[in-house]
Amino acid sequence: MTDTLLEPGLAAYAAHSADSRGRACPEPAPNYRTEFQRDRDRIVHSTAFRRLAYKTQVFVNHEGDLYRTRVTHSLEVAQIARSIARVLQLNESLTEAICLAHDLGHTPFGHAGQDALNECMREFGGFEHNLQSLRVVDELEERYAEFPGLNLTFECREGILKHCSLNNARQLGTIGERFIRREQPGLEAQLANLADEIAYNNHDVDDGVRSGLVTVEQLQEVPLFQCQYEKVRQRYPQVADRRLVHETIRRMINRVVTDLIDTSTAQLQAAAPADIAAVRGMSQPLLGFSDAVREEHLELKRFLRERLYRHYRVLRMTSKARRVIRELFDAFMNESALMPDEHNQAAQRLDTHNAEAGKARAVADYIAGMTDRYAILEHRRIFNPAERT
Ligand code: MG
Repeated sequence: MTDTLLEPGLAAYAAHSADSRGRACPEPAPNYRTEFQRDRDRIVHSTAFRRLAYKTQVFVNHEGDLYRTRVTHSLEVAQIARSIARVLQLNESLTEAICLAHDLGHTPFGHAGQDALNECMREFGGFEHNLQSLRVVDELEERYAEFPGLNLTFECREGILKHCSLNNARQLGTIGERFIRREQPGLEAQLANLADEIAYNNHDVDDGVRSGLVTVEQLQEVPLFQCQYEKVRQRYPQVADRRLVHETIRRMINRVVTDLIDTSTAQLQAAAPADIAAVRGMSQPLLGFSDAVREEHLELKRFLRERLYRHYRVLRMTSKARRVIRELFDAFMNESALMPDEHNQAAQRLDTHNAEAGKARAVADYIAGMTDRYAILEHRRIFNPAERT
């Protein structure tokens, strides 16, 4: 089956399967799917993807069943990005693959866990979750006889590696080159990045209100919320609080998505890139918000930082999380034989190549792969004499 049949209606500047820069380990083309559909399917079947169900963004996993986990977050990102991809005639399957994979390298306990692990790894090359996502799909997944990792296409890997320090970029070969040359990734990668931002800002409002940590009164300070909230209240004066909040959030998402589509369409028309190579060669991303909506979005972010992420109850969770990660890291660095055999073996293997830094990387891989509840349990097993080992 040809790719044009499976990928109808793509713009010239979209990623086309037939023009993919390929996989690290060459494989025969799939029969009834495009290369990017195959990427997406491999991601959905991966172990790291299933673990996202028990990893969190802001709230620790056991705090409540109704909050977003990283898997529901990834699905929301994919939903938003796919809708936009169709309108802009971008490759929907590649967009979806990048969205579903974008958080695979996240540690337990959200941002607090990532910061803590980065701190632990300071002398050993640091820890970046984007780079870890790439490491998961390139090396750590064990599902195929012929190659390590998932052997994804270049375009998908390019989208997963959203940010990267220059130091790390220099060691990554072709996938790191764009950071050195200050080039852009393909439009599907740019879109996944923006959809991520839209999804988490809006669902953190939802989870924040649900948890009682932020109130609707406080949210009135935020123009993006306030404007939609007033419209809904005037139009539906009788509607109950929960529906009022959800209808407001729905409209907030609609506002930023519509703006993103309109602004990006105009920018694409003006720049008229001939193909994905032209997109990559641009000095600026071609997808984005208008200045007004970008500012509204930034104000929402600032609000969430002040009122939600720095709420004392969230800080208590993150403080506990940091301690758990630090103590696990130190324990395994001092005595790598405390880790399950496969991780201890990885530590010894990497240690011979790269001394202490190799061992530290294996410990970081083990910790980063943990879910919130597994990390808490493992911490108890290591430190609590009354716990079964
Ligand atoms: Mg995300």
